[in-house]
Amino acid sequence: MRVFKFGGASVKDGAGVRNLAEIVRQYKGQLFVVVSAMGKTTNAMEAIVEAYMKGDKMGLEQCFNNLCSYHYGIIDELSELNRSCIEGLLHQLNAKLESEPSLNYDFEYDQIVPFGELLSTTIVSEYLNAAGQGNEWLDIRRYIRSDDCYRSANVNWELTKELMSDLLVKDDSRLFVTQGFIASTENNLTTTLGREGSDYTGAIIAHVLDAEYLAIWKDVPGVLNADPRWYPKATKIDELSYWEAIELTYYGAQVIHPKTLKPLQNKQIPLLVKSFVEPHNAGTVIKSSEQSGDLQPIFVLKRKQILISMSPKDFSFIMEESLSDIFHIFSKHRVTLNMMQTSALNFSVCADDSKYVKAAIEELQQQFDLRYNDEMELVTIRHYTQEAIDEVITNKTVVDSQVSRKTARYVLKASEWRF
Ligand code: ADP
Ligand code: ASP
Ligand code: MG
Repeated sequence: MRVFKFGGASVKDGAGVRNLAEIVRQYKGQLFVVVSAMGKTTNAMEAIVEAYMKGDKMGLEQCFNNLCSYHYGIIDELSELNRSCIEGLLHQLNAKLESEPSLNYDFEYDQIVPFGELLSTTIVSEYLNAAGQGNEWLDIRRYIRSDDCYRSANVNWELTKELMSDLLVKDDSRLFVTQGFIASTENNLTTTLGREGSDYTGAIIAHVLDAEYLAIWKDVPGVLNADPRWYPKATKIDELSYWEAIELTYYGAQVIHPKTLKPLQNKQIPLLVKSFVEPHNAGTVIKSSEQSGDLQPIFVLKRKQILISMSPKDFSFIMEESLSDIFHIFSKHRVTLNMMQTSALNFSVCADDSKYVKAAIEELQQQFDLRYNDEMELVTIRHYTQEAIDEVITNKTVVDSQVSRKTARYVLKASEWRF
């Protein structure tokens, strides 16, 4: 059994859906197809939630109409399909949007945003059926169960394994189509696993069902040694160890969701990162291997960073106790920390500059003298060389840095990049 995951870019229009069907047709044997919302639909769903929670009726109506026309447009491109296949879902969503919201933003988000995945999988499944590839549409929320930490739910692995074991019995079904990114609580309330979480869904299914491999189909030839949108000279890496790939996603390489690799590594299931544009090309294989020592430099850029420095107001040292307070506050406010440095009197972190960070800063200011610089970027170079470092930091303002045996990291003032 194999698991394929198709992201938003791969199904952004009718041609994308046809291409997905062509790829799926090439593979014999049991296949699980995990699909994200089409194109930028999740952003559009977030705008719907925003308008719904604000009570902005006009804005909401406009966003909802755009969502309908986008999906109807894709169905119209697929002449085999009829618009009626998604009408039920759109009515359900509309009914939700006409009801009064609760006061819990994250809960409401998880009841609305998943319609993106429900719509995309319905269209894909219907199209595959129409194209002669009989399949079963699965509501993954019946199988992947989580806690109620809305918007970044944690998987309940025991329950998920128990519920999914049912699926293994259905060994006569060849093709399943299901949603990435979404799950549900024991009480059947929908949750989401965090933005870009569909890769992780693929890994959960692959882990639980002992897949031969997980393939994620992207708009790039595989994992490159940098994001090509930032670094146009980026080249493909043919093979990576789990260890190396985990390091890269931890540093912020956006091509794979950071939670994806662990469930695969635990069962030694390879991850293939392949191009949906050139599906016959090999892509990148991530598997258990001794990574040779001479990997080329790999660059990871994290934009929108904030550098926060703090020291205790009472002139005490930064000791375990203050560190534990600091981590507790950051974790409570869901702030992602990307780089940390301690000295006797000072602790500094580079964090994602999200809406959560300001609340954490306010709380920290009660206990610490605190300064921060926003509009920062964090560049990590794995397997750095002096040449690679020069390429990144020449003509930049370096605000902080951390260099270890394999990794060099620089906090830079955000500015134009020219390579
Ligand atoms: P999906 O369609 O599955 O959601 P994403 O857009 O999340 O795919 O990931 C693919 C994108 O990741 C690419 O278009 C590329 O711009 C970006 N990316 C960032 N870092 C890398 C990297 N090291 N290698 C390849 N792609 C990268
Ligand atoms: N559709 C979700 C998102 O855009 C999940 C994913 O694409 O992986 O965040
Ligand atoms: Mg994505």
